[in-house]
Order: sequence, then structure tokens, then C-alpha cells
Amino acid sequence: MEKINLKALSKQELESFIRDSGLPSFRTRQLLNWIYVKYAQDIQDITEFSKELRESLSERTCISNLKLLDRQTSKDGTEKFLFELEDRETIESVLISDNERLTLCISSQVGCAMGCRFCLTGKLGLKRNLRPHEIVDQIISVSRIIKPPVIAHHPILTKGRSGDSLYKKITNVVLMGMGEPLANAENVVDALWRITGLMKMSPRRITLSTSGIAAKITGLPKKAPMVNLAISLNATTDEVRDYLMPINRIYPLKKLLGACRRFPLPARRKITFEYVLLKDINDTPEDAKRLISLLKGIPSKVNLIPFNAYDRAEFQRPDDESVLTFQDILTKGHILAFIRKSAGQDILAACGQLKARYKIENSK
Ligand code: SAH
Ligand code: SF4
Repeated sequence: MEKINLKALSKQELESFIRDSGLPSFRTRQLLNWIYVKYAQDIQDITEFSKELRESLSERTCISNLKLLDRQTSKDGTEKFLFELEDRETIESVLISDNERLTLCISSQVGCAMGCRFCLTGKLGLKRNLRPHEIVDQIISVSRIIKPPVIAHHPILTKGRSGDSLYKKITNVVLMGMGEPLANAENVVDALWRITGLMKMSPRRITLSTSGIAAKITGLPKKAPMVNLAISLNATTDEVRDYLMPINRIYPLKKLLGACRRFPLPARRKITFEYVLLKDINDTPEDAKRLISLLKGIPSKVNLIPFNAYDRAEFQRPDDESVLTFQDILTKGHILAFIRKSAGQDILAACGQLKARYKIENSK
């Protein structure tokens, strides 16, 4: 008989499991704490349970873990993790440290079906959706991996504290790794509830990035915690966006921006618009001006991302001067615009790139 993976169960499923096993209901709370706060990797780690209870649970249940296949550190400190799932598919997560913030960029699917022309993940196609626990487990696994061993023996930090104080805290999570989160909305929403409810991360510290499935954006506030929303806009005309991002043929700019305009943003929050700058495609001063009028009436900020080139890419990165000009036009048009240097360029940390390269190198 296959063992029940406790990490794969939702809170409600775990409650039913505990009830059906004839165990007292407080065991649910304890298990949730050990899985989502103390990051237990095995039933045997749960030292709060008696040896007998651990033995009997181990016979019927298990706790799954992502398997680390590869870890690379960029010159700028960005770290990239390649994980293997139980069916041997692989996903990646990227850890970016920036002053007091430690941001983990997580994947929501194995590959992606959206087929954006500039994106390596898009070229892989979709293998499958990630399950809620596989999404959450990226945070748990990276937190465990970056646990600084020196602190584990630190007399002050360990004294009188519970196990969870040993972990260097991931402060922010962005769903900007492999996959289109809103094409796997149900599992992503479940994962978001676990991250906010069970791991106690504030929804303000979580950002969901989408290529623009407008209908799902509209449905999100009713279903999910109020996380930040980022839209990969990448073009200012339907003609160019149709060419770059096939999703635009279903939800053209008007529909997409309409959904953004109607989005019930909490006070003082903004929608982030990501704009990958591709030389001679979407980087002209006219584009910048059109962008200003497109975003009218939407509390917004723009992240300009100069294209991160890869082998045989059909696009080029614009020169610094045109990037600065683009930003300047937006700023003068009262749009908050930042230039995001792609973190970890030397280890191909942009969307889907490590996995793509890993595949190529391992098929040689
Ligand atoms: N599927 C979601 C989230 C993952 S993609 C989405 O598209 O929003 C995360 C971001 O990486 C997107 O904004 C995408 O436009 C950008 N991106 C993809 N390939 C890139 C590349 N080669 N260089 C720079 N940014 C890239
Ligand atoms: Fe998928 Fe996002 Fe890449 Fe488009 S940019 S192919 S939606 S991961």
C-alpha cells in the first residue's frame, strides 16, 4: 500500500486523516507546525511525538521532500536551485538577496504552455502543473538548505528557542519562476493559503506574476489571499504583443488592462508591470509614450528588464542609453519606473534558463 504523503494534504484533509486515524485533533496542529514551521523532512524528525506514535505513523505515512540536483551561485550572490520532483521532473527556484530582503522566486509549473517568444521556459512547453505542496516545498527546501550551520551552534540564537529560529528567513516570495501561475490557479491558490496561513508569511510580501490571463485575474481576489499582482506586459500595441505573447490573442491589451483597472487594490498598493526590453521591438520612445497612456488610471509601477540573452536567442538586449531614455520618458510622464538588472546573469538565472541549460548539458 502506498504511504500517505502528509505534506500533500491540505489542512482539511489532514484534519480528516487525523480524525479517521482515531488521533486527538491537536495532532493536526502539531503536524502542521512540524511540516510548515519546523520543516520536518521525515516523520522521525517529529520529536514532539512519542517513539510509538512516530513508528505507527511511519508505517502508513511519509513526508515528501524535493531533491536538490544542482545549486549555482552567481557573482552577484544570486543562487539558483534545481530540484527533482517525485516523478523525476525538474523545477527551479532562484534566491535573490538585496539588503534586508531575501526573495525566493518560485515555479508554479514544470515548463509553460504560454509560448512567449523571448522566454526559454516557453520553449520547453508544458510538462505538468505543480501540486500545492510542490510549490510550497520550494520555500521549505531552500530555507533548509540556506540554514547557516554556524548559527545552529550559536549559544545565544539557539538557547531557549524552538527549532525554527535556526533558519535564515526568506522574507519575500515571487511567483516568477517557471510556469504561468494563473494557468495552474487552483493549486497556486491552495499554495498561497498554506504560505500565508500556515507559514505565516504576509500576503504583502508575496507577488504573483502573470502573462495576463484576464479572466483569472478578475477571479483572484475572491479566492486567494491579497498578494501583490505583477503583469508581464512587454508591449504597448496588440500587434507587437500578439507576436511576443500568444495569450494576447485571447486577452488583448484592452481586456487585460480593463481587468487591472477593476482589480480591487488595497489602499496604497500598486500593480507592477514588467516590461522586458527587446532591442528594436518594444524599446522605442513611442512605446514609452504609449505605455504612459495605457497605464492611466491604474495605480502602477513599471519594472524595465533589459532582455537577458541566451544562446541562439532571436532578440537582443537594447543598449543602456535606450533603456535610460525609456525610463526617463516614463518618469517624466509620472510613472514610477525601475530598471531591473537581471539578477544572476552569469548563471542564467532568468526564467527557465538553468533547467534549459542543464538539459542541454546532460544530453551531450
Ligand atoms: N509566467 C509568468 C511568471 C514567470 S516569467 C509571467 O510571464 O509573468 C517571469 C518574468 O520573466 C516575466 O515577466 C517574463 O517576461 C520575464 N522573462 C522571461 N524571459 C526573459 C528573458 N530572457 N530576459 C528577461 N526577462 C525574461
Ligand atoms: Fe510562460 Fe511567463 Fe515564460 Fe511566457 S514569460 S512563456 S508565461 S513563463
